[in-house]
Amino acid sequence: MTNEYFTDAIILDKEPIGESDLQITLYTKDLGRITTRAVSARKITSKLASHLEPLNLVQARLVQKNRFQVVDALCNGALPKNSDSIAVLQLVKDLTAEGQPDYELWELLKSGQATGASVLRALGFDGQFAVCENCGNQNPSYFLVKQLEYFCAPCFVKSGKPVSFALE
Ligand SMILES: [Zn+2]
Repeated sequence: MTNEYFTDAIILDKEPIGESDLQITLYTKDLGRITTRAVSARKITSKLASHLEPLNLVQARLVQKNRFQVVDALCNGALPKNSDSIAVLQLVKDLTAEGQPDYELWELLKSGQATGASVLRALGFDGQFAVCENCGNQNPSYFLVKQLEYFCAPCFVKSGKPVSFALE
């Protein structure tokens, strides 16, 4: 059985896969985060590839048959490109569950105003009342994505943990 979806989406990530395909991670309005394949998108004749850049806002046509395939994408603009927005994409990719739509998060991302702190809040990791996991200091300035824990700066440095997110 094949399902077809037409949904607004933000491109989170793009990786080469196989001979000529791309693996595209999307955050969609209707389906949440999904991993899709864009067949032959790395061929020089592919018109699809240019629409599948991270930060792009697209209207995507997806076909689901065992796995998702993105068969068409129309670019409607892009989120501002800066180190914050790149970090936001990574947070969304790492912390959202596949196939679980979240309308509040979608609206936040689409607005172009998303920050690391606001995305963490939308995902239920509010930093406002968080304390450092290690020493209990208030106003921790780092969020360790893999551990889902807040750390203050001194403890973060001591921990030597590589995967983190610095709050502004
Ligand atoms: Zn600490």
